[in-house]
Amino acid sequence: MLSYRHSFHAGNFADVIKHIVLVEILEHLIKKDSPFDYIDTHSGAGIYDLWNPDSQKLQEYTEGVGKLDFNELPELEKYYQVIRSLNKFDAIDIYPGSPSIANFYLRRQDRGWLFELHPKDYDLLSNNFSDKKNMRVHHKDGYDGLNALVPPISRRGLVLIDPSYEIKSEYHLVIDRVIKAHKKFSNGIYAIWYPVVDRHSITRMEEELIKSGIRDIQRFELGISDDSSQRGMTSSGMIVINPPWRLFEKMSQLLPKIASIITQVNRPIYKCEIIVDE
Ligand code: SAM
Repeated sequence: MLSYRHSFHAGNFADVIKHIVLVEILEHLIKKDSPFDYIDTHSGAGIYDLWNPDSQKLQEYTEGVGKLDFNELPELEKYYQVIRSLNKFDAIDIYPGSPSIANFYLRRQDRGWLFELHPKDYDLLSNNFSDKKNMRVHHKDGYDGLNALVPPISRRGLVLIDPSYEIKSEYHLVIDRVIKAHKKFSNGIYAIWYPVVDRHSITRMEEELIKSGIRDIQRFELGISDDSSQRGMTSSGMIVINPPWRLFEKMSQLLPKIASIITQVNRPIYKCEIIVDE
């Protein structure tokens, strides 16, 4: 049933927007000493070797992180710092998955909860993080895991929901589970990654969120080409509930720059929007 493996896509343009937003949120959470919980409902393997045959097959990272010149983008210093922490030299041979990014930021007082269903990726994830005392790795459904964990004892935290959307019903499922979690943990930060393959599915997700009455929702999207029903994933983004207060300002400066580099149509394609205000 589960056929998606993130190792084929690590470091692609979708990971770039997802992980930049993730870094910004984690940077915000560590500003206070008080503990926080990081819940990653769809963790993947955690760390990716870009020389692995899976990555080499499509080489998607060459159209994503591989396109960024970090010397020319000082705003991405923190994202680059996380990547550098896994690599010996300036070249990016190893790319961090979301659990590695969280691991870079988690302090002794914080906790990470990682969920992964694919047996092979669960084994890799478990091997990669079994020695981390404040990370728990579960071979369980991430939505059930989320429901069981909220509200976390710390009452502060970030929930990253990053499904592969292999089945169409996932677009609705994600929002349904977020609304349920938000009822129990309304001040948590929720970051929901989405692919734009069919724009209607994303519009429906937004409509469902607006209808839920949840406030303070923003969206950051990065594209390589215009919406189309024929070209696979043309853009992808993060919907963030309860975003850190400087995130919008930071992303509105950064997104046009990254979009101009990533685009495949000579025109930057991005969205930086408030879906529901505070
Ligand atoms: N978050 C990762 C990152 O940024 O590095 C990538 C995750 S990948 C897009 C999605 C992962 O979710 C896949 O490894 C897939 O096996 C896993 N998955 C799919 N459905 C799941 C579920 N219901 N619960 C937990 N994991 C699931």
